Amino acid sequence: MSKPVTIVCNFGCGKKFTCKITDKNLGDGVVKHVLKCPFCGKEYRIHYSNIESRRLRQKLKDERQTMPIEQLNCCIDKINSIEADLKRSVEG
Ligand SMILES: [Zn+2]
Repeated sequence: MSKPVTIVCNFGCGKKFTCKITDKNLGDGVVKHVLKCPFCGKEYRIHYSNIESRRLRQKLKDERQTMPIEQLNCCIDKINSIEADLKRSVEG
């Protein structure tokens, strides 16, 4: 386990809080990941994933050391494109 990261709520209440991503299931395997200040509710980082993008992320994690650079970049591009599409379709 990595060490918890502390974040200062710069754009909200100014308090310090531990970086903890909250996952919210939106159905159809789509998950919204939100980093939010527990004190004032300011949302800092939101990203979406689906089954395919999570599979690719896992693959990236597992094979990062052995994967050829072209394949690595291709995999990252694919994840970014899937998640950008998701964001667009969820947020409109
Ligand atoms: Zn705050």
